[in-house]
Amino acid sequence: MSKLFDFGLERLTGQPALSGVVKGVAAGGRGTFFLETFGCQMNDHDSEKVAGVLLSRGYVQVETPEAASLILYNTCSIREKAAQKVFSRLGEYREKQDEGKIIGVLGCVAQQEGEDIFARAPWVSLVCGSASYSKLPQMIAELEAGNHRVTGLDTDTDETFETEVTRRDNPWRAYLTIIEGCDKACSYCVVPYTRGPERSRASDSILREVGQLADLGYSEVQLLGQTVNSYADPTPRRMCFSELLLAVADVPGIRRVRFTTSHPSDFTPDIVEAIESQPKICDHVHLPAQSGSTKVLRAMQRTYSREEYLEKIVMIRNASRPIDITTDIIVGFPGEMESDFEQTLSLLDEVRYDSLFSFKYSPRPNTPSLVMPDAIPEEEKGRRLAVLQDKQREIQSRKHEALVGKTFEVLVNGKSRRENQWFGYSTSHRMLNFTSQAQELLGTYVQVRVTRAGPNNLMGEHNV
Ligand code: SAM
Ligand code: SF4
Repeated sequence: MSKLFDFGLERLTGQPALSGVVKGVAAGGRGTFFLETFGCQMNDHDSEKVAGVLLSRGYVQVETPEAASLILYNTCSIREKAAQKVFSRLGEYREKQDEGKIIGVLGCVAQQEGEDIFARAPWVSLVCGSASYSKLPQMIAELEAGNHRVTGLDTDTDETFETEVTRRDNPWRAYLTIIEGCDKACSYCVVPYTRGPERSRASDSILREVGQLADLGYSEVQLLGQTVNSYADPTPRRMCFSELLLAVADVPGIRRVRFTTSHPSDFTPDIVEAIESQPKICDHVHLPAQSGSTKVLRAMQRTYSREEYLEKIVMIRNASRPIDITTDIIVGFPGEMESDFEQTLSLLDEVRYDSLFSFKYSPRPNTPSLVMPDAIPEEEKGRRLAVLQDKQREIQSRKHEALVGKTFEVLVNGKSRRENQWFGYSTSHRMLNFTSQAQELLGTYVQVRVTRAGPNNLMGEHNV
């Protein structure tokens, strides 16, 4: 959790902190928690909500496991490396239990490993998967009552995880989950298994929270979901995703609306129309392709072909204002031939993504691709990843060079240690580092002119 943005319960709730909550809690004493998070934005946001649950129960968040009575570890299991990390970290926490501390594992790894975690790490007391977070307050109460083994591993819940208090890390940009779980069945992916089936949050509840966030001073909201654009309002209002985007943008005080991740099959023309008609909806779409080969996409069960994906790209590129497009690519999926990989490279040439996340295929438990033949050797996956990243670096260098001299509106997110150096994000989600003589800019919107560019960064000057 970020120290920079730690401003306490008062700021989050708009209410004075409950007396005795913050004061008088000794380091390492009862009622203190340390929460470490690894993974995607959804994981980060889950941790913000978990922290909210604990804060509203009177716990105080601390910055080291040594100072905590409750140590929580929240991590994803999308790739094997991330999952392994939990167990090595748990090993480090082993002796902490002897000091009377409670240790818990949350998130996808908890869901995946389940009660086996108790066998591998008997010093763990809480195992709770992300699909069961709505039961977290009861589980915490059980732990407080002295129960030593508490689990939450159901995935059949139809509830979404809403909390009265969410301890948000950033005071200007708020994450908001609008849809949890996933009903797609990509053959490589653990998410449908670890996060359970798709559940959309009621539109009135979303809009109420956006209103509260605006009242608290947040000007940017980022709507989250594994397939955010598959949103299906469970209330009689039956808002579709594009209507929800427009309604969120209409909330007084909200200046930017982002959303991620979009699934190509559910990316419909009305979403582009909403972006065109409402400048507050950010001009950035993250549209994971995963591969440029229709054969591989079929094996991945991605529900679209290369041609269908490219039709979506053309639709976005034809919008009346420029929209940045970013993506995710997996290399070395079982059966991916050199010719398939070349099609992925040609997809990069055709789309010219503004940025991309690339991964070596990682075989995961309980996924159909685990038993697929023709696995690609690790070394070859590494080679393909390097080739792909080199190509993207070249594309990004060119795109960035073309931005020199252009001016962007930036929401200032941080100040560098170097004097007069700040950074922030444009509406297209480009990060800009810039110089300014101003005394205080955090949380404000400023105009920044790009003066220099590298493949992975943009530098600029504050236009006063
Ligand atoms: N729901 C999003 C979608 O449909 O694209 C992505 C969710 S996942 C948290 C983020 C990215 O991790 C995926 O887009 C994919 O590129 C990557 N990923 C998922 N499973 C993977 C695996 N088994 N091996 C390598 N990368 C994987
Ligand atoms: Fe995983 Fe596919 Fe669902 Fe994305 S859409 S979370 S990759 S199953």
